[in-house]
Amino acid sequence: MTITRRDFLNGTALTIAAGLAPVQLLHAQQARTGATYPPALTGLRGNHPGTYTLAHSLAREGAKYPVVLAHEAFDLVVVGGGLSGLAAAWFYRRRFGANRRILILDNHDDFGGHAKRNEFTVRGQRLVTYGGSAEMPASAASDAAVRELLAGIGLDATRPPGTAPADPYAALGMGRAVFFDAEHFGRDQWVAGDPFGELIDARSGQQAGGPDAAALSRFLDSTPLPAADRAALARLAAGTTDYLPALSGAERAAALRAMRYASFLRDKAGIGLAGQRFLRSRSNDAYALDADGISVADAIAIGLPAGANMPAPAGNPRLGKSPASRLWFPDGNASLARLLVQSLIPGVASIARPADVVSATFDYSRLDRDGQPVRLRLNSTAIAVEPDGNITRVTYGFSGNLHRVEARHVVLAGYNMMIPYLLPSLPAQQKEVLHNEAKAPLVYTKVALDHWQAFAALRTRRIHAPAMAYTDLWLEPPAGRQPSDPAVLHMLYVPTVPDSGMPARDRFRAGRALLLGTPFDTLERDIRAQLDRMLGHKGFASKDVIRGITVNRWAHGYSYMPDSLAGENVAPDVAWPGLPGVGNISIANSDNAGSPSLAAAVGQGKGAVERLLA
Ligand SMILES: Cc1cc2nc3c(=O)[nH]c(=O)nc-3n(C[C@H](O)[C@H](O)[C@H](O)COP(=O)(O)OP(=O)(O)OC[C@H]3O[C@@H](n4cnc5c(N)ncnc54)[C@H](O)[C@@H]3O)c2cc1C
Repeated sequence: MTITRRDFLNGTALTIAAGLAPVQLLHAQQARTGATYPPALTGLRGNHPGTYTLAHSLAREGAKYPVVLAHEAFDLVVVGGGLSGLAAAWFYRRRFGANRRILILDNHDDFGGHAKRNEFTVRGQRLVTYGGSAEMPASAASDAAVRELLAGIGLDATRPPGTAPADPYAALGMGRAVFFDAEHFGRDQWVAGDPFGELIDARSGQQAGGPDAAALSRFLDSTPLPAADRAALARLAAGTTDYLPALSGAERAAALRAMRYASFLRDKAGIGLAGQRFLRSRSNDAYALDADGISVADAIAIGLPAGANMPAPAGNPRLGKSPASRLWFPDGNASLARLLVQSLIPGVASIARPADVVSATFDYSRLDRDGQPVRLRLNSTAIAVEPDGNITRVTYGFSGNLHRVEARHVVLAGYNMMIPYLLPSLPAQQKEVLHNEAKAPLVYTKVALDHWQAFAALRTRRIHAPAMAYTDLWLEPPAGRQPSDPAVLHMLYVPTVPDSGMPARDRFRAGRALLLGTPFDTLERDIRAQLDRMLGHKGFASKDVIRGITVNRWAHGYSYMPDSLAGENVAPDVAWPGLPGVGNISIANSDNAGSPSLAAAVGQGKGAVERLLA
């Protein structure tokens, strides 16, 4: 499911609710409220329908909303209930005192921003998984703000809580496999093993030792790739050929930053179209960009091979999800969001030890109660932030109406690109940088399976399907040890624009338009079709095996990272774009660090609070 120009135009048209008056938009937003326990909802989640009704009316149509009177006052209003906004509230209490009145607004029906969880119940067993931000990045252990925050909620930033459960899939000898599809490789074909995946893991330090040459050649010989591509891929994997022999030192480093990995594979490594397709989507998970969207330096950073005399893979510290990051909780960083919310609003859950957070029951009706110092208001989209001397008025849409509150301090922890619409009085220079922001779209689909017998029959727990819509699929820890037990299947889809040479920002915008314009039925149909096609020969029939589907659609996903292909400075210590805000209004969110990671979100939350005037 890659993007054509027609898709892009269709997607754009569908997502603009043209012609609706502001009052109708408010009511359209209201339609989605009322959920009691959002993590258990299935269907289209993540940026669920209605999330952007008001935001897009401002940004795309210039909608004008009437002025309403303020009816509440707070010390701090935080726009955005993701990890950054929650961290900002936490650091604010640390700086200004626990009795401060704080209101956190978020436009979703659940808190955590990208750090959300999904739940399914299959045959009476609860399956918990992550819907977005999942792993602890390697940079967290040495990050002062993360260490302070995690210590404050009972965690040690240098090690995960608890021990990893035994792996039932490994015990059954279930490994990796690659699925080649007929449209791109001439015929549908399964090949057991994934030596390139292992090579990447070994190069990025995830596993000791890479695939041996014999296994690699057995694998390549079983693929539908042409002989010339198999030979070129074997040479690339061997790592003994210098593909840029004329360049050394600074010249080589500059070339690696300026050259697309796809071009390198084609022009330097001599890999033909089929071989390029085989390696195309290995970077989707880390960057939400395919080989044509990343530089050779970016590819090397996550362990992709580039031959001899190249820098050693060294994780890009800006990345949150990378081969070097680790899953701490089954529901990923949603557990951190839950621990933060419980620390801010103790009545919402009873959690004796941090490790209990995953199974703790959260009472969403307690998030926003009169009398408690911190209130978290969901389904609330901020549409205006107006400084007036020492106070700032924040207007938001909630439950079909406009509301206004006053605050002494405001932290904008939503998306950078939205800020100029909320706060038009911001200095023009800051607005220009913010306008330029573009988040990467990606989808985490979670499929609750009645059983994983087809996977056991294939002796496979992880599938790479290089040219299909869902490129990476893996089984998450099952409810029991038998293939007849339920489990969740994780499926990654990144809407890419292969071989287009487009700048990352344009790719992200095109991908977002496509995602927002694709209804759930289409997504569901494609998910079932892909699974039936890949697994049908082992007895998998989606109509019998699937018990639930949650499509976590992150139309505004990863924060934009500086891109050397666009001539941007990618040095890790360069703040990007790192805007301060104005007066008593500070900017947080991982966008502000140019780093789609938990560490950036927390660091920005802390920095935003420190910048507020006392
Ligand atoms: C699918 C996915 C997987 C990821 N995996 C990892 C990972 O494994 N490790 C890692 O470190 N990072 C990961 N990330 C990066 C992730 O972005 C960060 O970890 C972190 O969660 C970002 O937090 P944030 O608060 O800065 O932004 P967000 O999570 O985006 O939160 C901002 C919130 O503000 C809301 N908002 C925006 N505008 C408004 C408005 N006007 N009014 C009200 N609310 C508003 C947004 O809707 C959102 O809920 C992942 C991201 C995605 C999308």
